[in-house]
Amino acid sequence: MSYQHLLAELDLGFTRLRNRVVMGSMHTGMEDRFWNYPKLAAYFRERAKGGVGLIVTGGISPNREGWLLPFGGTLNSVFDLRNHRLLTQAVHEEGGKIALQILHAGRYGYQPLVVSASALKSPISKFKPRALSIAGIEKTVRDYARCAKLAQRAGYDGIEIMGSEGYLLNQFLCPRTNRRTDRYGGSIENRMRIACEIVERVREVCGERFIIVYRLSLIDLVEGGNTWDETVQVAQALEAAGVTMFNTGIGWHEARVPTIVTSVPRAAFAALSARLKAAVKVPVIVSNRINTPEVAEALLADGAGDLISMARPLLADPEFVLKTAEGRTHEINTCIACNQACLDHTFRNQRANCLVNPRAGRETELVYRPLASPQLVRAVAVVGAGPAGLSAATVAASRGHRVTLFDAGATIGGQFNLAMRVPGKEEFSETIRYFQSQLERHGVDVRLGTRVDPALLAAGAYDDIVIATGIVPRRPAIAGIDSPNVLSYVDVLRGAPVGRRVAVMGAGGIGFDVSEFLLHPAGEPLPMPRDAWLDEWGVDLSVRERGGLKPPAPARPFRQIWLLQRKAGKLGAGLGKTSGWVHRATLARNGVKMLAGVSYLEISERGLKISHGGVEEWLEVDNIVVCAGQESLRDLHPREPAAASGPRYHVIGGAALATELDAKRAIREGAELAARL
Ligand code: FAD
Ligand code: NAP
Ligand code: SF4
Repeated sequence: MSYQHLLAELDLGFTRLRNRVVMGSMHTGMEDRFWNYPKLAAYFRERAKGGVGLIVTGGISPNREGWLLPFGGTLNSVFDLRNHRLLTQAVHEEGGKIALQILHAGRYGYQPLVVSASALKSPISKFKPRALSIAGIEKTVRDYARCAKLAQRAGYDGIEIMGSEGYLLNQFLCPRTNRRTDRYGGSIENRMRIACEIVERVREVCGERFIIVYRLSLIDLVEGGNTWDETVQVAQALEAAGVTMFNTGIGWHEARVPTIVTSVPRAAFAALSARLKAAVKVPVIVSNRINTPEVAEALLADGAGDLISMARPLLADPEFVLKTAEGRTHEINTCIACNQACLDHTFRNQRANCLVNPRAGRETELVYRPLASPQLVRAVAVVGAGPAGLSAATVAASRGHRVTLFDAGATIGGQFNLAMRVPGKEEFSETIRYFQSQLERHGVDVRLGTRVDPALLAAGAYDDIVIATGIVPRRPAIAGIDSPNVLSYVDVLRGAPVGRRVAVMGAGGIGFDVSEFLLHPAGEPLPMPRDAWLDEWGVDLSVRERGGLKPPAPARPFRQIWLLQRKAGKLGAGLGKTSGWVHRATLARNGVKMLAGVSYLEISERGLKISHGGVEEWLEVDNIVVCAGQESLRDLHPREPAAASGPRYHVIGGAALATELDAKRAIREGAELAARL
C-alpha cells in the first residue's frame, strides 16, 4: 500500500509541514515541572526524529486559574522561555514542527482557583468554579495572547487552542455550562464570543506567519451540548477570526460514552470531520481511535480531513511515520488503546508511559545500548514467549545478544492470545504481530512447541537464563470445585461450550473480560461494526439533538450472568480509571448481576451455593467460570544459589510475581532486564 496522502507535504503558505501526521496533545506530567524539561525534550526529539509532521505539546495553562492541577505547567513569564526552548530546539533539529497547546481547564481544574462561564460544579472535580466576571474574561483573553506571544518567542511554530473535551472554552460554548445573561451567554453568537476574541487577539499579537490550531468539539456527547448547526457556526466564525486549521475533539471528559478506549471502533467519529471539512476552507485534522497507517491513509484518501492526529500511537511507537515511509508498517508497535500506562497514569498524577513501549517518557532513563564489542555477546535463553519473555528476547537481541526463545505453546503471545478473544480487545493481537516482526528482525532463534525442563537448559550452555513462564490460574478450594460444570477462564476463552446461565467467580480484570465475552454467542463476528456500536452507546452522528445523544439501543445479552466477588465494595474497583467505568456500564446495561461480599459455599450440578448479605441461596446456573486470580508458575525457578561458573538466572513477569501482574509490568520488566544484560 502506498501512503501518498499521509506522507504528502502540507503547504500552509507561510510554512510547510513535512507530512500529514500530527502528534496530538498528551499530558505526560513532565510539562508541569521545570526540572523535567530535558526529559520532555528527549521525548519530543524521538518523535520528531521518527518523522512526525507537527507535534502538539501537552496542555499548558495561560494563567493560574486555568491550571488542571495545582502548580500545573504554565508559560506566562520570560523566565519560562529557557525550558520551552529546549523543546522547540530539539524538534527543529530533527526537522519537525511544534505547537504549544494552551489549555485552560475551567471547571475541570482540580484546584481551588477554578473559574468557568457559570458557577456550576462538574461531576468530575470536587471544586466549584467561580463565574468569570467581564473583567475576568478580558483578562483571560489577554492571558491567552500573552501565552501565545511567549510561545512564539520560545520558538514554537504555533499554538493549539484547546476548545474541546469540556474545558473552559467548551464550557462557554454550550448551554449545559453557560447560564450567563451578559454578552458572553445566551445565543450561540454570545457563547462563542470569548473563543473568537482569543483567536483574534492571538492573531493580532503573533502575526500571520504563526500556526493557530483550534481544537473544536464536533460532538459533545453530554446533555446541553451544542447541535451540529451551532458547531458549524462556531467553526466559520473562528475561521474568520484567524484560525489556520481545526483539530477535532470528540466528547467531554464527563460524557458517559467512551471515545478512545479499545472497544471504540477505529475512526468511529471520522464522519464528523468530513462534515466540518465541507463547511470550512482551512485544513481539518481528523482524530480519535486512529492507530494504523492504513486507517489514516484511507481517511485522507476518502476526504475525511487533511491531516491525522494521533497521540497515543506515537507514544507507543515514535518511529510510526518513518516505518510507514520505509514500507515497514508490520514493524509498528501499535497502540492498543488500553490507557493503562498513559491516561491512567496521568489521572494518578504519575508520568505517562506506555504498556507496549516502556521507554515512552523515559527516553533518557531506559536506553537500549548496542553492545560495544563482540566479547560482550551473551548466549541468552528466554523461557516463555508471553509479553515478558517477548520483551526481554527482542530487546536483548536488538542490542546484539544471541537469544533463543522457547515456548511450550504453538504460538507466541502467552496470555495475550486469550485477551485478544475478548470483545473490544481484538487489537491485542497487534502487539503479538509487532513482537513477531522484532523476533525476525533481530534474528531470535524461536523454538515453539518446546516445554523446557532443567535438562534442556543445562544442555544449552547459556550465559543467561530468563524465566518468563507466567502463571497458572488459581483454583479455589470449594466443595465441588471438580464438578464438570466448573470451567476456568482459559477453557471458556478457548471455546469450551457454556450454558445460558453462568456464574463468574472473581471480578478482577479477567472476570470482567470473561463476562463481556459471555454476553455474545460463540463465533459472533468481532470487532463490532461502527454503526452497531454507535447505537449501543446512543450516539447520533448527525448531532441533530444537543450533544449528539439518542436513546441507546436495547441490550440483547446472550446469557444471564452473575459476576461475583468476596470483598465488599464496588466491583471492578481495581480496573483502570479511564476504562473501568466502560466495562461496568456495559455489564450493567446487559443485565449482569454484580454481587460483592459473597461467600462461596458449595458447587453441585444444581449450580453455585453462596451466602450474600447473611442469606444463603443457590444460583441455579449451568456453569461456574473460575476467574479467581493467578499464581506464579515456579517449575523452573532455580532451587539452589547459582554456581559462580554457571548461568545467571533471572525471573520476570508473572513467573516472578502473579499478584497485580499485568502486561504493563511484564513488558517493562523484560525490557529493563534486557537493557542491563
Ligand atoms: P504469560 O503471558 O502467561 O506467558 C507465559 C508463557 O510461558 C506462556 O506462553 C507459556 O506457554 C510459557 N511457558 C510456561 N512454562 C513453560 C515451559 N516450561 N517451557 C516453555 N514455555 C513455557 N493485562 C493487561 O495489562 N491488560 C489487559 O487488558 C489484560 N487483559 C487480559 C485479558 C485476559 C483474558 C487475560 C487472560 C489476561 C489479560 N491480561 C491483561 C494479563 C496479561 O496478559 C498478563 O499479565 C501477561 O500476559 C503476563 O505476561 P507473562 O509473559 O508474565 O506471562
Ligand atoms: P485479579 O485482578 O487479581 O482478580 C482476581 C479475582 O479473584 C478478584 O476478584 C478476587 O476477589 C478473586 N479471588 C482471589 N482469590 C480468590 C479465591 N481464593 N477464591 C475466590 N475468588 C478469589 O486477577 P485477574 O482477574 O485474574 O487478572 C489478572 C491480571 O490481569 C490482573 O492483575 C489484571 O490487572 C490483568 N488484567 C487487566 C485487565 C484490564 O482491563 N486492565 C483486564 C484483564 C486482566 P475476591 O478475593 O474479593 O473474591
Ligand atoms: Fe496506547 Fe496503552 Fe500505550 Fe496508552 S499505554 S499509548 S493506550 S498502548
